[in-house]
Amino acid sequence: MRIVLIGPPGAGKGTQAVRLAAHLSIPHISTGDLFREHIDQGTELGQHARTCIRDGLLVPDEVTIGMVKERLARPDAQGGFLLDGFPRNLAQAEALDGILVDPESKLDAVLELEISEAEVVKRVTGRRLCRMDRGHIFHVYFNPPEVAGVCDACGGELYQRDDDREATIRQRLKVYRSETAPVIDRYQAQGFVTTISALGSVKEVLNRALRSIGKE
Ligand code: AMP
Repeated sequence: MRIVLIGPPGAGKGTQAVRLAAHLSIPHISTGDLFREHIDQGTELGQHARTCIRDGLLVPDEVTIGMVKERLARPDAQGGFLLDGFPRNLAQAEALDGILVDPESKLDAVLELEISEAEVVKRVTGRRLCRMDRGHIFHVYFNPPEVAGVCDACGGELYQRDDDREATIRQRLKVYRSETAPVIDRYQAQGFVTTISALGSVKEVLNRALRSIGKE
């Protein structure tokens, strides 16, 4: 399956994307994760992305689209993929149409996670990630580790992403409203969008997501 997962920051896209991709045996392609890998490796692309991410702004399209195009061309993405965090504006959505122009490679679904902005702020500012493995995600209120600041799974140090601070999350929500919401309207007009609530446990949302794409 070829799926785009879309929703505001803090809706739980990353958490659900990992699980959905594993369930469907397709690669999880997160532009945020790809940028963070570049930043960690100190690449030129990472240098470009760093300040935008820190300030809650979108990384320029030419950088982002090139990176996604290269990732989607790899062999593991030929049988399907789950895109998490892309497209985030209309120019990226148009670019994706261009990349998936072959009738064999059309999108199957656009899955939208819906959540209020107040809930997003509460969720995001409490989120903590493990330095050893970013897939290990905790929350100071909803999913606290046994020992504060330490990953239960591997003992790694837990940290808060710079862009998870309150001022930045408010900026990211503003960007979502103005840039990403029109992408949903565009896909809706094409009849692709299935919207589910992002509230509830991880498992509840996952089951809801699978049901909505007919893969329960
Ligand atoms: P995420 O991990 O998806 O929340 O993304 C973290 C940050 O990476 C965003 O706030 C943006 O600064 C940047 N980013 C991720 N995906 C994109 C994209 N498709 N276009 C532009 N910037 C992006």
